[in-house]
Amino acid sequence: WKPTVTVAVSGAAGQISNHLLFKIASGSVFGHDQPVVLRLLGSERSRQALEGVAMELEDCLFPLLREVDIGIDCRKVFAGADWALLIGAKPRGPGMERGDLLEMNGAIFVDQGKALNEVAKPTCKVIVVGNPCNTNALIALSHAPNLDPRNFHALTKLDENRAKCQLALKAGVFYETVSNVVIWGNHSTTQVPDFVNAKIDGKKATEVITDQDWLENDFTPAIQTRGGLLIKKWGRSSAASTAVSIADHIRNLVNPTPEGDWFSTAVLSNGNPYGIQDGIVYSFPCRSKGDGSYEIVPGLEVNDWLRERMKKSEEELTSEKGCVGHLVGE
Ligand code: NDP
Repeated sequence: WKPTVTVAVSGAAGQISNHLLFKIASGSVFGHDQPVVLRLLGSERSRQALEGVAMELEDCLFPLLREVDIGIDCRKVFAGADWALLIGAKPRGPGMERGDLLEMNGAIFVDQGKALNEVAKPTCKVIVVGNPCNTNALIALSHAPNLDPRNFHALTKLDENRAKCQLALKAGVFYETVSNVVIWGNHSTTQVPDFVNAKIDGKKATEVITDQDWLENDFTPAIQTRGGLLIKKWGRSSAASTAVSIADHIRNLVNPTPEGDWFSTAVLSNGNPYGIQDGIVYSFPCRSKGDGSYEIVPGLEVNDWLRERMKKSEEELTSEKGCVGHLVGE
């Protein structure tokens, strides 16, 4: 057996975790020969529910699941973590401004960043899912100087998956044939799903889907607002598909990226090859050698249409950062 991997999960009694934890424990995320320990973080509010989650995990008899611990103190739960999946966050309430949400969740991510710094393995990989995830990731990494800032991610893989599906449906092909899709920028309605560099069956997507009007005026806003539409229909935000995309994100980091392809993840922008300003967590096309690290793929075509929208998302992230300047050391 390989040495166990310790995975800490916040918001562990929430809806996304309710799908994700069982995937991790089954071996379908880290590999069918990889034993795992799950450390579940909750709060006073969710203590009972968390005990219920742990009971269900035990009852599954997963052979790779070596231990399930629950707790409400992030300094205990994050101890020795190889991975931290930060899912728990306060949802936006009626009449709440974006700045209020940033401030409230910011406080959670300051504390969790500090806890990771103190007790997680210095190599710990952190994926922030709780919204506003890009800026929450920036806050967390700002408080964890012992960890490489490149180990922090915010999730945009769900947006990439949504974009791949819609391109495949329009082209009338199976979504496995859609590759090279990147989401640029913020996980918000300013995100830029890139059809310019996307490929379908190895050809440029724009040669397969020649309806430019659809690409610009239907596809793009549909991906940007799909999360909101789903909330309207379901009465809650996407949970199962988000869990799948977190699993995809982890697999993207622990397996080598197929030659010529890339995946989306929001990472610290410092030194990026696309002229996006340093000091924000921005989604880029990335590749991995399969060791948990990544590099930003340079050289994608950025035409005026993309550039203008990428800039808007950059500006939104700068403004979010401005709202929480006191939490990111500025
Ligand atoms: P849930 O509503 O199920 O809540 C998850 C956890 O968040 C709860 O178990 C709770 O954890 C914590 N929480 C809930 N309310 C509060 C509160 N008022 N104050 C502090 N913490 C609270 O959410 P989901 O699992 O559906 O979603 C979790 C996050 O993921 C949300 O922020 C959502 O916006 C985001 N998301 C991100 C996506 C992405 O692509 N990046 C896609 C979909 C969702 P506890 O009480 O145990 O601390």
